[in-house]
Amino acid sequence: MDITSLRNRIECLIHMDSEVLIQDILNSGFSCVRCGWCCRENFNINIAQDILRPSNAISVFPDDIRCIIRGTGMQWDEIAQPDIYSCLLDGDNIWVIGWILRRNDAGDCIFYRNSTCTIYRWRPMICRCYPFFMGDKSVDIMHCKGLVNKITKESAAEMGKLLKRYEIKKLRSYIRIIEQIGDRLKIANLRMLPREYSSEVFVCDGEAISRRCLGIHN
Ligand code: SF4
Ligand code: SF4
Repeated sequence: MDITSLRNRIECLIHMDSEVLIQDILNSGFSCVRCGWCCRENFNINIAQDILRPSNAISVFPDDIRCIIRGTGMQWDEIAQPDIYSCLLDGDNIWVIGWILRRNDAGDCIFYRNSTCTIYRWRPMICRCYPFFMGDKSVDIMHCKGLVNKITKESAAEMGKLLKRYEIKKLRSYIRIIEQIGDRLKIANLRMLPREYSSEVFVCDGEAISRRCLGIHN
């Protein structure tokens, strides 16, 4: 997507009546049963040629990371790692688009322990929205064990507003990332790095460009 299309999409979302979303959410019957399914690695998503992204590679905004830092006292790099499933090779440089939450050796989110999210109050925006994502004109609903319950109109309205906020924030972040790395950012150019990849990368997250040395388990 180019910047103009992203801006147009943001304009549409700003003027969209959340009621449209609320009805879809109400119909879903969602209420989280804290099963942790979405926090664990369940399958890979083939997002582009040669890119298999684990279902729980959780993309986070810098704001999400700062919120977890405030809540836990952990350091940035203990919480998040460069998103190795979203990289661009540019001569000798590797550009990484954004951050994902760290996962343990079993592939689970590091904050999923003893069958619960240990940072529930500070969890990232994307986790707060799950299992809902914005589709083109309606709400897309992912696999979730909490879709057999009831959701109140108030909770559905809150979720509708959150979804809209999340989508607008994500699109604004895309715009800033495109401005940071220019027309190298095309889906066809995206690559994933092997988990054992070990060298320096540049991470663009829409706020800053930072250098990181990837080591084993990154
Ligand atoms: S959002 Fe759904 S899949 Fe995730 S923990 Fe809650 S019930 Fe389980
Ligand atoms: S932050 Fe919490 S809700 Fe989000 S994936 Fe990790 S354990 Fe699950």
